[in-house]
Amino acid sequence: MNLQPKSVARDLDRQWSQVRGMLRAEFGETAFNTWLAPLDLGGLEGERIMLSVPTRFLRDWVAAHYADRIRVLWRRVNPEVNGVALGVVPVPAGRPPPADARPCRTAPAHPQFESPPASETEVGAPLDPRCTFESFVVGRPNELAYAAAKRVADLATPPFNPLFVYGGVGLGKTHLMHAIAWQIRRQDTMRRVVYLSAEKFMYQFIKALRFKDTMSFKELFRSADVLMVDDVQFIGGKETTQEEFFHTFNTLVDRGRQIVISADRSPSELSGLEERIRSRLGWGLVVDVHPTTYELRLEILQTKAQMIAGEVEIPASVLEFLARRITSNVRELEGALNRILAQSTLVGRAITLELAQEILHDLLRAYERRVTIEEIQRRVAEHYGIRIADMHSARRARAVARPRQVAMYLAKQLTPRSLPEIGRKFGGRDHTTVMYAIRKIEDLRTTEPLLSDDIETLRRLLHG
Ligand code: ADP
Ligand code: MG
Repeated sequence: MNLQPKSVARDLDRQWSQVRGMLRAEFGETAFNTWLAPLDLGGLEGERIMLSVPTRFLRDWVAAHYADRIRVLWRRVNPEVNGVALGVVPVPAGRPPPADARPCRTAPAHPQFESPPASETEVGAPLDPRCTFESFVVGRPNELAYAAAKRVADLATPPFNPLFVYGGVGLGKTHLMHAIAWQIRRQDTMRRVVYLSAEKFMYQFIKALRFKDTMSFKELFRSADVLMVDDVQFIGGKETTQEEFFHTFNTLVDRGRQIVISADRSPSELSGLEERIRSRLGWGLVVDVHPTTYELRLEILQTKAQMIAGEVEIPASVLEFLARRITSNVRELEGALNRILAQSTLVGRAITLELAQEILHDLLRAYERRVTIEEIQRRVAEHYGIRIADMHSARRARAVARPRQVAMYLAKQLTPRSLPEIGRKFGGRDHTTVMYAIRKIEDLRTTEPLLSDDIETLRRLLHG
């Protein structure tokens, strides 16, 4: 068969999207977005798949942790592939934002990271050039968080310390943190801004411990003028990391350095965190980003549509449709918009309301039936008459531990969440704990019909 280059490319694209799907399922949303989403498909050379990444740091990381897995998975969809090569293709400075609306973290690229001092790449995480204050759409739900972030970026001495921003996933917390970092870097190149996720902080710390090199670890962080730690709920339960984080935190505050923290819930709700740390986190300014309103969603979509106007026209009716139907968060909104853009380009049809409905049909159906982990926790807690807090607590008494295991089991069955993600939602437990819980419930179901009944009842309840 004589394949035309175009169809080869299309085949490769399809394979790549399958492989990406498998990677996402295997490593979970967070790891996928951080490390794998920035990969771009370059093509096939001989038997090797060429992938490009925006920075050397990412290349090294992906090479060390994921390249072999990518090769293995790729062979499943195309056995002719037998290798993966990674190349660095920097994103040039000042490049206009690409005409899509991928989430913040999926394109971590910044020219500064091309030849950074070793410590900088070691310690921080890349910033997305698209996540600036200019590209952030302000509305009622996020105006307070925006104003606070802007103030922190504007002033050389901390107006409040820490700034603690919390709210649900996909509502712009990371975007705001990147925006602060960009503005400070632009304004004052001497100030050292360190941005990273709490997971990465933990990872760095554990690595330092392993290599008995905690001194330089401490130095790295303590020399920051502005330290931003994203998704701090992830350090719940990790005691030594917490301790180190707390010391770093105090040292920096004492030295008058700015700290910015984000989390998916308020300081007082952070489970698995020591009381003194929890209360300390709430000393500065605590602001929350609220769920989006229809108006904000529409405005965000209009802004994105304007960015690509000239290339593609998106009728107002489509934007309104999206703003009305995709209510969960901005990330999903962007995802839906991108899907429509991609498909309409692919099939060469103009974007209409009908096409949008057609493309999003499955997504919307799944979306309407979707169950969240929080909902599962609430239902299970009600069913067994325990407190929701016990879903997160460390208590091991059977009366709470068993319902908790049931909830973990249902979370795995009814949501697309990975084991680590589920663990986090249950007071920052390890994924092995979740795995154990699932096995345990599976075993018990075969011997305890009552438990089986409970689970079926809950499942029906949850599916409405
Ligand atoms: P979070 O960190 O709260 O989970 P992100 O900051 O990653 O959310 O936001 C998810 C996506 O939505 C990102 O691509 C971000 O740029 C976009 N986004 C969120 N809020 C806004 C906003 N107000 N204006 C423009 N884009 C936004
Ligand atoms: Mg985030």
